[in-house]
Amino acid sequence: MIMLDVESIRKDFPILGHTVYDKPLIYFDNAATTQKPRSVVEKIETGYYNVNANIHRGVHFLSQAATEAHENARKEVQRFLHAHSPAEIIFTRGTTEAINLVASSFSDACMQPGDEVIISEMEHHSNIVPWQIQAARTGIAIKVIPVTEKGELCMDRYKELFSERTKLVSATHISNVLGTINPVEEIIGIAHQHQVPVLIDGAQAVPHVKVDVQALDADFYVFSGHKVYGPTGIGVLYGKEKWLDKLPPYQGGGEMIATVTFEKTTFNELPFKFEAGTPDYIGSTALAEALRYVENIGIGNIAAYEDGLMRYAAEKLNTIEGVRIFGQSKEKGSVLSFLIDHIHHYDMGMLLDRLGIAVRTGHHCAQPLMNVLGIEGTVRISFSFYNTKKEIDTFITSVERVRTML
Ligand code: PMP
Repeated sequence: MIMLDVESIRKDFPILGHTVYDKPLIYFDNAATTQKPRSVVEKIETGYYNVNANIHRGVHFLSQAATEAHENARKEVQRFLHAHSPAEIIFTRGTTEAINLVASSFSDACMQPGDEVIISEMEHHSNIVPWQIQAARTGIAIKVIPVTEKGELCMDRYKELFSERTKLVSATHISNVLGTINPVEEIIGIAHQHQVPVLIDGAQAVPHVKVDVQALDADFYVFSGHKVYGPTGIGVLYGKEKWLDKLPPYQGGGEMIATVTFEKTTFNELPFKFEAGTPDYIGSTALAEALRYVENIGIGNIAAYEDGLMRYAAEKLNTIEGVRIFGQSKEKGSVLSFLIDHIHHYDMGMLLDRLGIAVRTGHHCAQPLMNVLGIEGTVRISFSFYNTKKEIDTFITSVERVRTML
């Protein structure tokens, strides 16, 4: 297991020093949102104190400084994802808004009634419901890649889902329930053989693995700032310029126009065409700071360390009688979903909370996957580079305690 200086990393996250119910906080809900390092919070504070003015087209000093900071943040995201150009980076409110944008604009511009989008059984609701809304609105159809017993995508069935009507594939990079790291390069390669573009939901991947959108040849790639140590309310849609150029705007308003008359409006160039209204120019700079923080530790180090934590926790959990771990994929992120005997996931979650341990319980916004698994929900633990084996030991002892209690 790779060694990180976790002691000193933890000092960057004041919340990790808190107690809940007089117990030291053990935060194992990182797949829902990550905690924020001081430098990110300070970036927000100094942004509002020192460079706050509405951006773009302002002639005054502050407006120009804020614009420069926002556009520099865009360049940092471009570099982080290894996108070809900053014009391919659209700031959104998060993964959900980014997928809704593509679902709406892509189906309007590139799909006819009866055309098909392929998604998978392990998608988060945010990569299911937007397509259902478009299906009801425009008559597109949704096809679904099944998941195997191990919790991997059934690639043979995926290949069989393509038809002449397939217009887009939209799949998650890492499952927020099973932890499965999907073979996205292969998924994209197969779709491209059919001349079909691919959207990858990177919400769980960007905090955990190196993402190079050009190496992957992804047509669209989306993620949320708050899951990668950045602020809430900001996220990213990466899209190849050739696709973004084809798509109509998602929302209308200020910033996204070139000219407006009552007769006709022409739209701004990329990326502004998709950024109607005042953007979160403070959030963008704080997100860039979060990405720098992650890069300083090294995404390879993070992946290796978190993988070590996940495997250690899985091994320990497996020693508990009656445990079932959902998701046995070879390639896994730092997410573990489990149930123990007949114990309800809520009961387990509530009792662990009383012992100071934050876990997630329920369907994890993946009800269709729960139906496939034949369960209502799970207990989910998910790790960050600031978690430790010692915390896992405490967690395991606590789970055993809860088990005997119930
Ligand atoms: N996709 C996946 C795989 C996720 O884990 C999440 C968050 N749980 C989302 C999409 C939605 O992200 P957000 O709520 O930040 O838009």
